[in-house]
Amino acid sequence: MITDDISIPFDVSRIRTDFPTLHRTVNGKDLIYFDNGATSQKPKVVIDAITEYYTNNNANIHRGVHFLSQLATAQYEDARIIIQKYINAPLSEEVLFTKGTTDSINLVANSLGELFTEGDEIIISAMEHHSNIVPWQMLCERKGCILKVIPINEAGELIMDEFDKLLSTKTKLVSITHISNTLGTINPIEEIIEKTHNIGGYVLIDGAQSIQHIKIDVQALDCDFFAFSAHKVFGPTGIGILYGKKEILDQMPPYQGGGDMIAKVTFEKTTYNELPHKFEAGTPNISGGICLGTAISYLSEFDLGAIHAHETELANYAEEKLLEFDGLRIIGTAEKKTSVVSFVVDGIHPFDLGTLLDKQGIAVRTGHHCTQPLMEFYQIPGTVRASFAFYNTKEEIDVFIRAMKRSLNMLR
Ligand SMILES: *Cc1c(COP(=O)(O)O)cnc(C)c1O
Repeated sequence: MITDDISIPFDVSRIRTDFPTLHRTVNGKDLIYFDNGATSQKPKVVIDAITEYYTNNNANIHRGVHFLSQLATAQYEDARIIIQKYINAPLSEEVLFTKGTTDSINLVANSLGELFTEGDEIIISAMEHHSNIVPWQMLCERKGCILKVIPINEAGELIMDEFDKLLSTKTKLVSITHISNTLGTINPIEEIIEKTHNIGGYVLIDGAQSIQHIKIDVQALDCDFFAFSAHKVFGPTGIGILYGKKEILDQMPPYQGGGDMIAKVTFEKTTYNELPHKFEAGTPNISGGICLGTAISYLSEFDLGAIHAHETELANYAEEKLLEFDGLRIIGTAEKKTSVVSFVVDGIHPFDLGTLLDKQGIAVRTGHHCTQPLMEFYQIPGTVRASFAFYNTKEEIDVFIRAMKRSLNMLR
């Protein structure tokens, strides 16, 4: 029989064998992991790379003359180049290791923010994660800057006419999420970047939810900063990336002082090291950096276009099945969305539903997803969120839908 179902152009069952956690049971059931928006599972190559580093190669980097120090330094710097190539950054020193997206955004707020003055404006959106809200509020308090918020419509899309009205020569920075962790909305960042550059402002893209789903090319995007976390892209926790254009990073003052970030220290005056070290004070998360390189190498074996198509299909399928339940409302119905399905059910608290799903081995997230202003906009306490990765399957969604049916019967 000829099948015209070519919608899964890569071998999901083979991919699943790379991820040990996917094969465990939870509460006596096969785990179904739909909490990829919070963190992804790790492939065996990454887990092995962590063990390998601490078993054979552990040393502090950058200053040692001895063999292991040089080996660890080479591996760490090789990882930086893997990441540089992956996001198509022009220079490796434009790729800074941080603790994650939150740390990357705080770095920009604290360093670039030092150059801002009273009355300067920063634009974010109504769908931002708290880590792309609070650092800017803190900066505004310190510096007397003004925070403006692009509103969204009921579908969870940015109202671009309102963005146009907020933009002015006072705009110093627009900091915006590429994909919403709560709604799945894919924002028109190309348009935002172009318009912001036209008035002379900078743009930071929060890529925490896009790097694992969409091919990122920072030169094609022409963004000034791009931030992401390793742990959401199949790497370890506690490590992430801030890409920044060299000419901007060069103007920015260091954010933290300490070892590694200096050229020369005396008690009279300290001069700072060059990029990227200027922004990497102290002993970094060496194994984290190396293993992020491993994760990115692993991911680059796949066709991101195929991954994106697979995940979008999963989200569409889940939505279609979920909408068959009475009183269920999807939160986030943007025309351009992917990999995330958030929903509420009339009269049922998301937490109760999440708890019953967990009893059946299904990991979803419930709550505000670090986007409280968005919950306020929709006037809901929280949602149940299923977020997919390329290792998820339609069969898992079928099991999830049956578990939903059972759970709703118990709660109603
Ligand atoms: C997860 C997430 C963050 C924060 O990432 P951390 O790894 O917790 O620093 C920021 N923005 C978005 C859109 C996220 O999904």
